[in-house]
This record gives sequence, C-alpha cells and structure tokens, in this order.
Amino acid sequence: MNQGSYANIIVDISHEKVDRIFQYRIPDKLKGKLEVGMCVQIPFGRGDSMRKGYVVGLTQKAQFPDEKLKWVDGIVTGIVPAEADAVRLAAWMKDAYGSTMIAALKTVLPVKRAMKQKEKKKITRLLPVEETRALLGECMRKHQTAKARVLEELCREPVLPYELVTGKLNVSSTALKSLQSQGVLAIERESYYRNPVKLETGREAGKSLSREQGEICDKILSDYDEEKRKTYLIHGITGSGKTEVYLSLIEGMIKRGKQCIMLIPEIALTYQTLLRFYKRFGDRVSVMNSALSQGEKFDQCQRAKKGEIDVIIGPRSALFVPFPNLGMIMIDEEHEPSYKSETMPRYHARETAEKLAEIKKASLVLGSATPSLEAYYRAKEGKYELFKLNRRLTGGTLAPVSIVDLREELRSGNRSIFSRRLQELMEDRIEKKEQIMLFLNRRGYAGFVSCRSCGLVMKCPHCDVSLSQHMGGRLVCHYCGYETAQPAKCPSCSSPYILGFKAGTEQIEEQLYKTFPRIRVLRMDGDTTRTKESYEKILSAFSQGEADVLVGTQMIVKGHDFPNVTLVGVLAADLSLNDSDYRAGERTFQLLTQAAGRAGRGRKPGEVIIQTYRPDHYSIQRAAQQAYEAFYEEEILYRELGVYPPAAHMMAVLVTSSEEKRGEALTGRLGELARGMKEGKCVVIGPAKASIGKINDIYRFVLYCKSAEYDRLVEIKDKIEQELQSIELRDENVQFDFDPMDSY
Ligand code: ADP
Ligand code: ZN
Ligand code: ZN
Repeated sequence: MNQGSYANIIVDISHEKVDRIFQYRIPDKLKGKLEVGMCVQIPFGRGDSMRKGYVVGLTQKAQFPDEKLKWVDGIVTGIVPAEADAVRLAAWMKDAYGSTMIAALKTVLPVKRAMKQKEKKKITRLLPVEETRALLGECMRKHQTAKARVLEELCREPVLPYELVTGKLNVSSTALKSLQSQGVLAIERESYYRNPVKLETGREAGKSLSREQGEICDKILSDYDEEKRKTYLIHGITGSGKTEVYLSLIEGMIKRGKQCIMLIPEIALTYQTLLRFYKRFGDRVSVMNSALSQGEKFDQCQRAKKGEIDVIIGPRSALFVPFPNLGMIMIDEEHEPSYKSETMPRYHARETAEKLAEIKKASLVLGSATPSLEAYYRAKEGKYELFKLNRRLTGGTLAPVSIVDLREELRSGNRSIFSRRLQELMEDRIEKKEQIMLFLNRRGYAGFVSCRSCGLVMKCPHCDVSLSQHMGGRLVCHYCGYETAQPAKCPSCSSPYILGFKAGTEQIEEQLYKTFPRIRVLRMDGDTTRTKESYEKILSAFSQGEADVLVGTQMIVKGHDFPNVTLVGVLAADLSLNDSDYRAGERTFQLLTQAAGRAGRGRKPGEVIIQTYRPDHYSIQRAAQQAYEAFYEEEILYRELGVYPPAAHMMAVLVTSSEEKRGEALTGRLGELARGMKEGKCVVIGPAKASIGKINDIYRFVLYCKSAEYDRLVEIKDKIEQELQSIELRDENVQFDFDPMDSY
C-alpha cells in the first residue's frame, strides 16, 4: 500500500477554495517512505512557494499526465505524524458534518506542532561523604561561602534539584561549573512529562459489584472477547453505580492490554471524579481538557502513543487522543449538549465515537440517567443494547416531588417569586439547619430593560438581542460585550419609567435577603463562575455548610452530592420550555429530573417543589413522576409528527454576511437549489432570518432541510458546497449543522 507513485495531498490553508485534494508525484528518494497522515512540504500555486500539506492517500493512478504534476519536496519533521486512522476519521467528519478537510484534520489532531520535551536539571554528588566534608572545610577556610553552601547540602542529600541550588542556596552557575570540573559533582539533565494532574493518593481496589452491575460488565466484556463490537446504553439514575461499572470495564480492558477513552462533560470533571479514577488506576490514567497548555496536551498524547497510560479522561476532545490499542470508549451523561461541537466541523461526540470505534474495532458504552432521545431511539430500534440500573446503591430514596401552579398563586394574591408552599418549607429547613437549593432554569442572565410607557426595549446596536441589566446600572450585551449606562429617561418617549424587568438569579438572591433577613446565600451563575476554580469554590463552600441556600442556573444541578440538602425548589420550570426549539421539552425534562435528584442524597429525606405556569405540560409532569419511559413515548410522538430528530434528520444551513441583502439573496439561492434537488424526499424550510438576526453587525439567515435519510442531506450539502465554488462571494459565509442542538 505504501508503494504508490503519487500522493494525494491536502494543502494546509484554511480556505474552501483550496480545500480539495491535489496530486503530486513522489520522487525516488521518498518512495516507500510516505504514509497516509504524514505532513509534507510541497510547491504550491503559480509561484511554487513551499507549503505544508497532509498526505491523505497514496496511489498508482495519476489523474493527469505526469508532466502536469509537481513533485513532493520532502517530509516535514517536528510535526506529529497524523495517524492514518485519524485522517480516516477526519475524512468521515468532513463528509458527515460539512467542513473543510483542514478544519476536520485540525480537530482530530489534538496538537499539531511537536513540543520540546521538558527537562529538569539536577546536581549529583560524585565524591564520598567524607571527602566532600573535607572539601567543605577547605572552602570555609578560603571563604568560598557559595561553594560551601552547596557542599554542605550535598553531604546531606546526594542529589539536588538545580533550581534549589541556584535559587534558594544562591549559588552561581560559575561556582557550580568549577566544582563540576573538579569532579566533585555532576550537572545532569533529565527529561520529564508535563503532568496536568498532581494527585497524591493511595490506591483503592474496586467495590464488589452488585448483581446488576456484574451482569452488565460480564456481558460487555464477553461480547468483546467474542469479537462482537456493539454500542451499549446504560440507563441508570444518578447514584445507581454507572461509574463503578465504567471503572470495572476499564480494568477488564487493561487486563486485555487495551486502552480506554472515558468522556465526561467538562463541568462534571471535578476533583472528586478524577480522584476516583486515580485511586483505581494511579498514574496509568491521565486527563485532557481545555485548561491544559499545548505542552501538557502534547505530552499526554505522547504518553498515550507510547502505551504509558491506559485511560484518558476528558470532554469531547479526549476522543482524539491517539491510543495504539484502543479497546473501549465510554461516554458518561451522553445526553449532555456539550458533546456537540459549536464550531466547524460541528460533530457530535456520540456519533464520532461510534465511527472511531468502528475504525479501531473498539466497543462503545453510553450512560445516562436521562438518555438523549437519539440514544434511546436507537436502543428501541435494537441498534444499541440497553441495560438498566434502577437502584440507588448509597441508600436514600428519590425525593417526592410536588408541582405548584404559579397562576393559582397569583390568583390568591401572592406576587412573590416564592409560592406559599415553597416559603413554608424554606422556613422549616432554615429552622432545622438543613440546606436548600433554588434552581432557575433559564439561560439568560439578568433581565432586560424596557419602557413602561411606550414599550421600547433597550437593544444592542450591533446584535439583534436585548441588553441585560447588571449591578451598578450597566447594560451589557452577552453576545458582543457592548456596554452602556442605563438611561434615566426613555430614549424614545422621554418617560422616566424605563425599568429593569429582572428575573435572574441576582433578583432571587435579593428577594431571599428580604424574606429571610438572617439567611446566608451563595449564588452560582455565568457571572459568579468565570473560572473553573470559582465554580469549585462555591460548591465546596456550600458543601461545608457556609450557606443555607445555593441559588443558581443549570450549573448547580450537575455532579456533587450535598447530603444536607433536603429541599430543592425549581422557581419557574417552564422558562426553558419557552425556547422556540424542538429540544426544549427534552431539555426541560432532563434539567428537572436532575434538579429533583439533588434532594435527599443523605440520610435525611428530601422534598422537591417545582413551580410552573404550565403544570399540565408532559415534560413537567413526567419529570415530577421521574417517569423517563412515559416521557420518551410522548416526546417521540411529537418528534415523529414534526419530522424532527431522531425520527428524521435535519440540516441547518446558516448563512452570514455583513450585508443584509447579499446574505438574504444567497440563502434564497441555496434554498431553491435544495428544493430543486430532492423533491419529495426532503422538506426544505425557509430561508428565514435567524432567531437572532444579527450578531456583531453580521446578519444571519437560516435554511432547514429535513429528511428521513441522513445521506439525502449530505447530498444537498455537497451540492451547496459545489455551488459555492462557482459563486463570486464577498464575505458571505455558509456553515452546516446536522441535527442541531439549538435552533438558529
Ligand atoms: P452513578 O455513576 O450512576 O452516579 P456511582 O458509580 O457514582 O453511580 O455510584 C454511586 C455511589 O454508590 C458511589 O458512592 C459508589 O461508591 C457507590 N457504589 C457503586 N457501586 C457500588 C457497589 N457495587 N457496592 C457498594 N457501593 C457502590
Ligand atoms: Zn418610552
Ligand atoms: Zn451586541
């Protein structure tokens, strides 16, 4: 296979116009040396300037006569050779999600540039202690105090870190060199890996598995041994022992000499979670996430390649750690929206993991307390094998949930954001010194500002969104960062009644202090958790009892057990239902189920109150009953009727332009193209202005194509890509999003 005479090459320029394969001739000196995935130097363009490119194929067949083809110049060293498998995966991603090949390659290659190996210097004593001591005395007499300091230290410790000697001991490098040339000590270099996690912890064996857990592990591992490769879905409530199952499976794979990738949403990648893995596998496990430096990422990939680690834990990008013998991929909380990339290629980790598992002949295990409609649908179709874990292993039962109708509250004259029932229970818990969590499932931050006289809403001049009110009278755009002072009078009618319509976590905090004067509140939202540390800090403060109430957005419903929390309040459950998108019901169900699961995790029984204006909605009803199966049946019906995923597939085509007219015209043209192509097999909706029609002065238009068959949509995408090659574009940009997580 390596004996081709021609190389198919992708040029490393992020531009659609050159995102195609160019063929080059392989000179004799490189014959047999090139491999798919290598980075090579090639002459490119009219001026034949040297460029880098990736080999994506080797062949004996030329597309053009020899004299028309240029020669490969050489192999670029110092670049991580992309594994052939990674290139295959990138090619699949390009086709399935719509992106340039270069963007796909950059996604699957975690670090492109080889980083220098880190080194530390150390100082080693070469003489026996007595001789060193004699020399020390001599130095003292000669008043060579610097030399004396290092010798004294070397009498105690035979090896010293270089930095300690030059730093704390304040010994110059000249003095050290002089001792080195006398043969007293040696200065040596030692290379080491950048280690992102420094957890000093003892090892712990696994728990003995429950019967249900054991059966799952046995089945998956025996399938593996029988060469059966499948995707498994473990549907188990939080605390039912899914993580213990993953740990056991990893152990099984390590015994078989295989490696594993464990995906965990970034937000759930807490110290506690990591500790559990480190206790079990020590330094055979490592972590990959966005907080790592390029050097740290590079080193983790090197360790994986050399077989020095068996497990990598991380969010979706950990999929691309190059293990030579990958045996299993596990995705915890597979329903999490963060598994989908928000930049091109907009890949979903679940589907990409399936493809990777196929390429590597590995198994895939998914787990969730509230499986995505996609995964459950496939399990029902028999494409995935389904397991259930229904028992909480730590004891503690699911807390009873009651729904409070907020319309009733208003009718009875209660205009507070806390219903009477919630207020009573809060008083009770504060008295008993138990803790409370209040949850606001809305994605926005503070409320918007509007004029009570003429109805004007303060909007961002660059984006099609309303400005959010912050502390200190500032109005902020959360899309572009634009800031302005809140006006004293309405800019349109001069009325002084221009006021904030607050509905954010800040207001709840304020209201809590008013209602319960001595209460201690912690707040967690996008504003208080700019960094991961602040996030962990708030959680640990709460778990140490430093507050009575934790108020927050969806962030507070994930991970972390708080045994002293005996009351959870959801303030307005329908806020997330009002999003005009087809996943709103599913997202609401997931959030409410998770929120409810926060109460009564310890010995004391808990209680959950869901406040809502739509008490009859099935997402809210089913979440209150903790009835996943019933929810699924209703939701899938709605998806089937609306021709939405997973009952069908959907492709969003997002067109942006700085000129409204040009953007609109291009979207119209692509819409016609799509309509003309697939009459009957595909539904085309739009073009329409995106729900946020402008961000940062760039106009946004959208087109939706729906079809039962994914491949039909890919054909439309290919056709659009072709069409774009032939159009003179100014700054219009087209992006594809398959089975989108949000509407545009
Ligand atoms: P999940 O991942 O489903 O939330 P975990 O694996 O974290 O569940 O398990 C929940 C709790 O139950 C943990 O404290 C864990 O140590 C404990 N646990 C899990 N499996 C067992 C078992 N077989 N025997 C005893 N305790 C277990
Ligand atoms: Zn006004
Ligand atoms: Zn803006």
